[in-house]
Amino acid sequence: MNPTRRKHLVRKLKKLCHTLNETSIGLIRGSLVRGQKKCGRKGCACNEGKLHRHVVISTQGEGKSHIVYVPVTDEEQAVASIAAYNETWRLIEEISLINIELFKAGVLSVANPKKTKHDSSRNRKTAI
Ligand SMILES: [Zn+2]
Repeated sequence: MNPTRRKHLVRKLKKLCHTLNETSIGLIRGSLVRGQKKCGRKGCACNEGKLHRHVVISTQGEGKSHIVYVPVTDEEQAVASIAAYNETWRLIEEISLINIELFKAGVLSVANPKKTKHDSSRNRKTAI
């Protein structure tokens, strides 16, 4: 790998990692589900067919599916949080492609490797 290409990739990698750090704040893994329902209160307009709109986030965690109620006022935030999750994965894929290219060229190194007392031979390559 020529030095110009390496410099370009490292610069791009640092920028992507910075963006990843910013993007991942507030991310939520899940899907937004919009629907309509009756509330069950006597005399409510929903009994006449004017159903209440509701929004939930369908997500998974600890091996289970979860539904999280989204207040109408927070719908925009929920959309943004789910978009942040998807963007985070896109950034990770892009970072991985750059790292594969650096790895193939023998110039990839983990910036902060875990070291043990008896492991001084690890990660001898220059940190990027
Ligand atoms: Zn109702």
